[in-house]
Amino acid sequence: MCGIAGIFGSEEASNLVYLCLYALQHRGQEGAGITSYDGKRLKIIKDFGLVSEVFSERKKFNYLRGEIAIGHVRYSTHGESSFINIQPLTFSYKNYHIAISHNGNLINLKSLKRELEDRGAIFQTTSDTEFIVHLMAQSKGDIIEERLINALRKVEGAYSLLIMVNDKLIAVRDKYGFRPLCMGKLGNAVVFASETCALDLIGAEYERDVNPGEMIIVDKSGLRSIQFEEPRPHYCIFEYVYFSRPDSRIFGEYVDKTRRKLGKNLAIESPVDDADIVFSIPDSSNTTALGYAQKANLQYEIGLIRNHYVGRTFIHPQQMIRDFSVKVKFNPIGGVIKGKKVVIVDDSIVRGTTLRKLVNLIKKEEPKEIHIRIGSPPIRYPCYYGMDFPSQNELIAYKRSISEIKEYLDVDSLEYLSVEGLLKSMSLPPEQFCTACFTGKYIEPIREYKRSKEEI
Ligand code: SF4
Repeated sequence: MCGIAGIFGSEEASNLVYLCLYALQHRGQEGAGITSYDGKRLKIIKDFGLVSEVFSERKKFNYLRGEIAIGHVRYSTHGESSFINIQPLTFSYKNYHIAISHNGNLINLKSLKRELEDRGAIFQTTSDTEFIVHLMAQSKGDIIEERLINALRKVEGAYSLLIMVNDKLIAVRDKYGFRPLCMGKLGNAVVFASETCALDLIGAEYERDVNPGEMIIVDKSGLRSIQFEEPRPHYCIFEYVYFSRPDSRIFGEYVDKTRRKLGKNLAIESPVDDADIVFSIPDSSNTTALGYAQKANLQYEIGLIRNHYVGRTFIHPQQMIRDFSVKVKFNPIGGVIKGKKVVIVDDSIVRGTTLRKLVNLIKKEEPKEIHIRIGSPPIRYPCYYGMDFPSQNELIAYKRSISEIKEYLDVDSLEYLSVEGLLKSMSLPPEQFCTACFTGKYIEPIREYKRSKEEI
């Protein structure tokens, strides 16, 4: 997963992109980068780390001059974790200076790579994003938009893109619109971002989403739109379940509102008789738990404190320190939990290992009973469209039934929201959503795919 942002038409372009990336930090913590165009050449700063770490010095912004800039926060889904893969990726070709930020995942790379290399392409990265630039360079077309459209017609998969070509800013979304991408205005400047929380931070006004299959081009002559492919909306429902920020509006609806509905439907489907309290596994489950508590007429409590200074993944080479990983992140509040029949709401279970450790921690505070409720169905299938799930074998629900997962977690009960309950919580019709990781129903047959971080 990744987050992208871009500004056209502001002297503060790189500063504003930096702020947008701050708001999008939850979408990727592995690396960050900003590229600006100063009228002659591209300027780029990128590195491993959080946005605040990569852009800690003021002089970096003096370097990133220009009225047009794009940025990226990375969580690798394709391509190994190396410096060359941190985005934006930049290229020079003929008279074009190209920078590209990508959120999504392309899936037909094997055959494309063979085709491109046979025609002389030399790859600089192991990122799927680079394919788009090679395809653009080898496409026919007098103007860059034509070349880009020709390139995009050859790729399969998910892409929300921001591309700077000299003094043009281009925003594109694949025909299914798997990943969100919105557009706003800040005075005369045009802003694009993965989520509306980035627009809110810089005071930009939300205009609309970039439509599935649409390309928006912004340059000195203004803004124009090309619907280059027939839209077939198939939005990633997992963005609502877990990934997007609750204060964002994606796919036409607030994430917070949708998560509350998930919680309400979960409470209707799977009540817990005579429970004392409900609490969430912070932060992504907070509003789902609130929805559950409201519908079940139960007291909503804060039962776990999360340390916000730990990233989404806590990795340490020493086993002794790794054993503390869940404790570093969460601490249960004994006074809230002791002697109570508790309902714990989580958004999803992927491997189940973290939740099991967490249950053990909570048990030390001596609750009377523990009932786990999950605000989405069991994840049984891989995602090919940019969500970095582990391999199918590592998904706990792939080989285990719900009662076996309950045994593994060692809790009094475990229930998931049904697929029907999930879809009922949405504001758009069911056919407009991808639910493949829950149902195995992919919009198109997956003909070729390599799992993330493997060599193409
Ligand atoms: S498979 Fe799941 S995570 Fe991937 S796009 Fe579809 S709903 Fe989203």
